[in-house]
Amino acid sequence: SEQQHKRSDERSKAAFSRAKTVIPGGVNSPVRAFKSVGLNPVYMERGEGYRVYDIDGNSYIDYVASWGPLIMGHAHPAVIEAVKKTAEKGTSFGAPTELETLMAELVCERVPSVEVVRMVNSGTEATMSALRLARGYTKRSKILKFEGSYHGHADSLLIKAGSGVATLGLPDSPGVPESVASHTITVPYNDLDSVKLAFEHYGEELACIIVEPVAGNMGVVPPLPGFLQGLRDITQQYGSLLIFDEVMTGFRVHLNCAQGLYGITPDLTCLGKVIGGGLPVGAYGGKREIMEMMAPSGPIYQAGTLSGNPLAMAAGYTTLSLLSQETYEHMERMSVRLQLGFESNAAKHGIPCTINRVGSMVCPFFTEQHVINYDTAKTSDLERFKAYFAGMLDLGISIAPSQFEGMFVSGIHDEEAIDATIAAHDEALRRL
Ligand code: PMP
Repeated sequence: SEQQHKRSDERSKAAFSRAKTVIPGGVNSPVRAFKSVGLNPVYMERGEGYRVYDIDGNSYIDYVASWGPLIMGHAHPAVIEAVKKTAEKGTSFGAPTELETLMAELVCERVPSVEVVRMVNSGTEATMSALRLARGYTKRSKILKFEGSYHGHADSLLIKAGSGVATLGLPDSPGVPESVASHTITVPYNDLDSVKLAFEHYGEELACIIVEPVAGNMGVVPPLPGFLQGLRDITQQYGSLLIFDEVMTGFRVHLNCAQGLYGITPDLTCLGKVIGGGLPVGAYGGKREIMEMMAPSGPIYQAGTLSGNPLAMAAGYTTLSLLSQETYEHMERMSVRLQLGFESNAAKHGIPCTINRVGSMVCPFFTEQHVINYDTAKTSDLERFKAYFAGMLDLGISIAPSQFEGMFVSGIHDEEAIDATIAAHDEALRRL
């Protein structure tokens, strides 16, 4: 049975106390500390398929998937085998390897707008580099982003950001100089009128729009019909670039990423998460003419000691190779099943609930409002989320410790896992 009567956490508590003496806040990425849900973080020991096991011996059906990358589950045998085989030959050379070309060929083949692609080590590096390229290419300084979107922690992008910034309720980050912040224009997601106003005002100063084609860092918020096309049109009209930040959506919502799903062609695309298969990877790519502005073919600089790392390429390439049309059809079926189960539980318990979903990105909000941007996402009852999160954890379900993150269904969640999750959700809502 999935349901655990009592979740022990002595070891996780001791582990966190010890970590806090040598790691700021005890963690290497803020949301892992479970601060906003008021709990001790759970220390993981191992994962297998859709399950994770903590150091106190509890097990969970996992929907965090390392915040998105593990689309084929934890410790997939093919991925582990590829990493092992590659590691035996050496972990890094600082010289080109053929694996990097294989990986680039696969990405270019699958991502419609990408003709050339550069590998980096995280999503943050991908967006930061794409911004520099957009600014260098257009010779403009300002950028436009959306409130509640998270694009990594580069200075220009930490303005009205989502994800952990939203979760912790932090205002715009100290440490970002005002002179840098002043170049970032923010408008509400899904609001084309505001985008138009921004362009009327800043017009020829805007180097780019950077957008999550499905917002995934204010909870999950799908683009309204016409929104992405509107961004494409206006950037073309003003000679700015359109950057799709597909760090989360890339290979998550469709075999050809969100741009394949919606049929919109951005100038530049940022990738991460899934393309690393659980190892540290990011990438940015796009039109050859623009990408060739990067060193060594062009004057804009970006580099990395470990970029294109063999282990990361092996894990990423193997993960992408496992994905097929059938994987996405399976994830769609499982995700619909999860959504319908959750909706019927919420109705049964009379709890206000709006579920947003695009493919395997699923997000139940505790609100009755139609969630289309950060302001409407914030109408969710965060106190209720806290209690719900604790309940789900005690019932053996691992979800992100924040209302402003979605659940990730993977290619290996099956009906049994989904139904056990729906049963736990029913019980968690009953306990509210
Ligand atoms: N862009 C998006 C859309 C993301 O979701 C994230 C991470 N959640 C990032 C960028 C940053 O990626 P990383 O954490 O690998 O730096």
